Amino acid sequence: MDDSRYNKPMKKTKVVIVGAGLGGMSAAISLAAHPQFEITLLEKNTHLGGKLNLKETQGFSFDLGPSILTMPHLFERLFVMHGKAMQDFIPIEPVRPHWRNFFEDGTVIDLTHKIDHMLVNQSLSPMDVEDLKRFYAYTEQIYELASFVVFDNQLENTAAVIKKKPSLKLFLKMDYFSTMDQGVRRYIKNPYMIDILNYFIKYVGSSPYDAPALMNLLPYIQWKFDLWYVKDGMFNISRGLKKLIDTLPQIQIKYQAEVLNVTKHGNHLSHVHLKDGTTLEADIVISNMEAIPFYEKITKESSRFIQKYNQKFHPACSGFALHLGTDKVYPQLAHHNFFYSKDSKTNFKNIFHRHRLNEDPTIYLVAPMRTDPSQGPKGGDIIKILPHIPVIDPKKPFTQEEYATYRDHVLTKLERMGLTDLRKHIVVEELWVPETIQDMYNSNMGSIYGVVSDRRRNMGFKIPKKSVLYDNLYFVGGSVNPGGGMPMVVLSGQQVVDQILQNDALKMIK
Ligand SMILES: Cc1cc2nc3c(=O)[nH]c(=O)nc-3n(C[C@H](O)[C@H](O)[C@H](O)COP(=O)(O)OP(=O)(O)OC[C@H]3O[C@@H](n4cnc5c(N)ncnc54)[C@H](O)[C@@H]3O)c2cc1C
Repeated sequence: MDDSRYNKPMKKTKVVIVGAGLGGMSAAISLAAHPQFEITLLEKNTHLGGKLNLKETQGFSFDLGPSILTMPHLFERLFVMHGKAMQDFIPIEPVRPHWRNFFEDGTVIDLTHKIDHMLVNQSLSPMDVEDLKRFYAYTEQIYELASFVVFDNQLENTAAVIKKKPSLKLFLKMDYFSTMDQGVRRYIKNPYMIDILNYFIKYVGSSPYDAPALMNLLPYIQWKFDLWYVKDGMFNISRGLKKLIDTLPQIQIKYQAEVLNVTKHGNHLSHVHLKDGTTLEADIVISNMEAIPFYEKITKESSRFIQKYNQKFHPACSGFALHLGTDKVYPQLAHHNFFYSKDSKTNFKNIFHRHRLNEDPTIYLVAPMRTDPSQGPKGGDIIKILPHIPVIDPKKPFTQEEYATYRDHVLTKLERMGLTDLRKHIVVEELWVPETIQDMYNSNMGSIYGVVSDRRRNMGFKIPKKSVLYDNLYFVGGSVNPGGGMPMVVLSGQQVVDQILQNDALKMIK
């Protein structure tokens, strides 16, 4: 009997991944757990990790991207699937307190890792803490529903949720008709705590007044899974994943490999073309470039399609990322700090509805040297300031003068609220505005978290991972479900592989 066909090497499925942010890396690592795939990871920049990025200068080590890590078990899966332990690649440690919150009237409230510990704050009463416990119970129910939608069934829109027929009891946990803010106010009376809990929306770059109440799962996630720092800086997430990829020979990485174009045959993509003239054959394309810029620049869809998608899947906000190295330590700061606007509602309205730079913004400030003094020179501090600002309006982009005025507003506010003479102590400064972010990562209008979570536009659902236009195109990252922020992006890379395998199985049946 001729059994040569049994000895033939299996023809591998060629997967080309456009972009090596966390979404692309997670997809590549997850695909590599299946022997049938040959994976090429293309990255336009010279580093892996996308928005996880680093600048080292004059003894300061600035993490230019994320600073808050939650749900590390979602990262751990990438190591476990290859028989490794995350701790050997990315050592992490918990941060205490979770957040320090500063208000204009001098009130300071620490958000502790356990609700019972919140009474360390003299401005909170036992009643406030009881309210928080009731709020926690409410958010736990939302998490139960989110688990059904996101983790157990990977549902990508409200219709799919209804089709899956959750029990009415489970469906009602979604608090469908409320915004995030309305959900918070139903349980919380303390005005400072309302601002703090509403500001969890920072994690997905949206507004609590527009986002669905579903987003109240964010504080639950932080309390349940804790808040973490990566030893020696957040960029070590990228380094750790790269180290893992180096053990997986089926993944080939190409740096400075910007994708400009694809060859289409009807609804099928066959080749990917790079800026340097190289062409790669692809059985499957996974884009970690955000979906809307990919449809706009790479497959070149009609402006009608792009407009429709932009309407429903509008970008989340951008940020004014000011990285300061100082020659003075500000001991009142914790690792993560928030300086609140006197009028939170107007602040959000200006970002999401009026396209204005707010004179009195809420400011997120990271001082990583509280946990890790190795990040800067002794006697100095790293102060990374990140107020959220609108994405680029192509018809009326902000001018350099407007950004300079905004910088003044931000620094004046911080000096007024206790960081005395901050401006006099700056020795290094690095500023990233929406235009820098857009140019560097190809994000839609300079968004930093992908697609906005908005009750009316999308009910918190993002773009589907499987393209609606091409049969072998998938997306990963912040612009697709389950959404922005590192843990969800890493999850999208894992879930896309389930979808690819499922789609392959369906094709075999047909
Ligand atoms: C300042 C800042 C602070 C943040 N803070 C936090 C935080 O504290 N916690 C948190 O969880 N999240 C935070 N985020 C959000 C988080 O960084 C993102 O949600 C996540 O990293 C996005 O990953 P991604 O894979 O979707 O996209 P990206 O990281 O943008 O990756 C996309 C990759 O594709 C590449 N690419 C694009 N186009 C092409 C092309 N044509 N050809 C080849 N390559 C291409 C890009 O260069 C990039 O490397 C922050 C983001 C920023 C910018």
